[in-house]
Amino acid sequence: MSKPRGVFVAGNWKMNHGPAAARAFLDGLARLGFPSDAVRRASGGRALQSAVLVPAVSLEVARASVAQHGWSDLLQVGSQNTHFEASGAFTGEVSAPLLKEIGIELSLVGHSERRQHFGETDESAGKRTASLLSQGFEVILCIGETRPEREAGQTEAVLSRQLGEVFRAAGAWMKSKGLEFSRTHWARLTLAYEPVWAIGTGLTATPEQAQEAHAFIRQWLRGAGTAGGAAAGALSVPPAETTAILYGGSVTPENFAGLLACPDVDGGLVGGASLKPESFLKLIETGAQAI
Ligand code: PEP
Repeated sequence: MSKPRGVFVAGNWKMNHGPAAARAFLDGLARLGFPSDAVRRASGGRALQSAVLVPAVSLEVARASVAQHGWSDLLQVGSQNTHFEASGAFTGEVSAPLLKEIGIELSLVGHSERRQHFGETDESAGKRTASLLSQGFEVILCIGETRPEREAGQTEAVLSRQLGEVFRAAGAWMKSKGLEFSRTHWARLTLAYEPVWAIGTGLTATPEQAQEAHAFIRQWLRGAGTAGGAAAGALSVPPAETTAILYGGSVTPENFAGLLACPDVDGGLVGGASLKPESFLKLIETGAQAI
């Protein structure tokens, strides 16, 4: 298989598509012929994974609509953000147990827009990641550098710092609950490299830039996962070879195949191009062809 970790295509709708539009999107996908035989084949054994990350108000309708279409094994519905506590005085937040009640078990964590506008930090992203993984959720955890950081040649330093702080906070959260990360937890974690300068700007990283950053992240995981690395930082990190790393930042049906041709790019986290069924379908078909 040319993609040893398969391909994951996740659409982030951000603050778009209320319940009526969510249903119309999914009906539109069906009218366009989703899932094709290639997608159905590739989704068996989860070589191809697809998901839409929808506004909280649309989660229930999207989940029900996916089930009505018979796609529960083909297209996941996930939250864009989830709090680490189960309940309490956290106005405006949703928790894992609340989401589970409506059949949601996938969440995005640490998106740069959460960091930029709502004060999310590596520490809070780490706590959310640990809490969700320990409650059986799948998590897509975002990291990435800003434009000034890239221009100053700090991309790798920023990625190292983010990874270190996220996994330090995740480990501390687990310890505080008397838990430890296991293979089963890590198998539910996907990373997303999203250079902030490429998100919603039309400025996609070149395949070379994406590959370089993804290879660096994987190398960092290898190092931190060794006895020396773990001892030095007391870190538990996901396994380097099996953890999927998605690229995000102005992915389109036109540039996706080039990005997927990179050995360390295992899929895409897509904003703008996931909002229309036509382009989202093309992305999924491109993912199926890359496997
Ligand atoms: C995103 O929302 O994570 C994203 C990458 O957006 P866009 O594809 O629009 O750049």
